[in-house]
Amino acid sequence: MSYFTHLECSVPCGAGPFDARQPQHLCTCGMPLVARYDMTAARSWRRESLASREASMWRYRELMPLFDGEAPVSLGEGWTPLIHATRLGSELGLPKLFVKDESLNPTNSFKARGLSAAVTRAHHLGVRTLSIPTAGNAGNAMAAYAASAGITAKVFMPRDVKTPFVRECELYGADVTLVDGLITDAGKMAAELNAQHGWYDTSTLKEPYRIEGKKTMGYELAEQFNWTLPDWIIYPTGGGTGMVGMWKAFDEMSALGWIDPKKRPHMVTVQAATCAPIVRAFDEGAERARPWEGATTIADGLRVPRAIGDFLVLRAVRDSQGAAVAVADADMVPGMKDMGRFEGISAAPEGGAALHAVRALKQQGRITAADTVVVFNTGGALKYLDVLG
Ligand SMILES: *Cc1c(COP(=O)(O)O)cnc(C)c1O
Repeated sequence: MSYFTHLECSVPCGAGPFDARQPQHLCTCGMPLVARYDMTAARSWRRESLASREASMWRYRELMPLFDGEAPVSLGEGWTPLIHATRLGSELGLPKLFVKDESLNPTNSFKARGLSAAVTRAHHLGVRTLSIPTAGNAGNAMAAYAASAGITAKVFMPRDVKTPFVRECELYGADVTLVDGLITDAGKMAAELNAQHGWYDTSTLKEPYRIEGKKTMGYELAEQFNWTLPDWIIYPTGGGTGMVGMWKAFDEMSALGWIDPKKRPHMVTVQAATCAPIVRAFDEGAERARPWEGATTIADGLRVPRAIGDFLVLRAVRDSQGAAVAVADADMVPGMKDMGRFEGISAAPEGGAALHAVRALKQQGRITAADTVVVFNTGGALKYLDVLG
């Protein structure tokens, strides 16, 4: 049974509620919408019931955007391994270091979670054509789920994106348009065509359900750690859906009585030094981030100069007494290699960046040997092999 009820403004500005049985994008105030559930009724859902469930993120289906009788569009996303990284941990002086290995998702990144949720909802809304601006991985995931649901996919990417991202979209039958500039420029072109043709926009946080897919990372961490969350979560941040989603999961699990509401992890947002709008806003004490000029980095997923949900990421970092860390491209590659040679984990530059941030926070004394630390390896190395050369 599903407890999904409606959508609400994330600010919240007071507008709404919004009907989830109709296509919805942003709130009337221009800010992201988020899915809401009947949390009072949901308190009768017991976490013990999870033990016998399928090994995918849809094991949490009661608190996912599915109405009764609807089936998810799924390729087996989620329920990824939480690896105790003992060799890397002894290198770093952190015996309780863990890697949540999201490279094992369909299409090799955690974007699968968000797009499985988004395409599921769009499918049940009867959408025929989906569109997405992407730095790479989100386009791959959208194309795969659209193919699985029999929906047409239009993908807009920066022209200089690495070739494997383009080929993989084409493999799933998507129409790819290469755009001069960055993901924000791809977003402008997609928005014009969406308006002309009535295509359904699945951009990060402009579409309300990608957060719901990403929040399952928070549920999984709690379940895999037997309902005691770690001290630190280290997360490479582009659009910020994962940070926002996990923070939402912690709110929901507190309301369910599944976790101790007072024991929340410190949330660490990691960005590329050459595209760090959220880190800069955090350092300046600002509520919103200014757009980053001249964004460039080998970590395609972090090449996001402006994020509509920046204020939500900043809230999670501040409310959790977390940190915001910028990592140079030159430090990401050693991070990837350390993940590989110490643990046998295939890491994207984004994962390498997160590992480097742990090293930096340990050196600063913010993270100590007693702490339980989870690094998110958000994608695999294979689409980025050129940076290893
Ligand atoms: C998209 C992406 C990110 C950033 O994720 P957000 O949730 O948008 O902040 C990080 N790593 C990889 C590999 C990505 O594809």
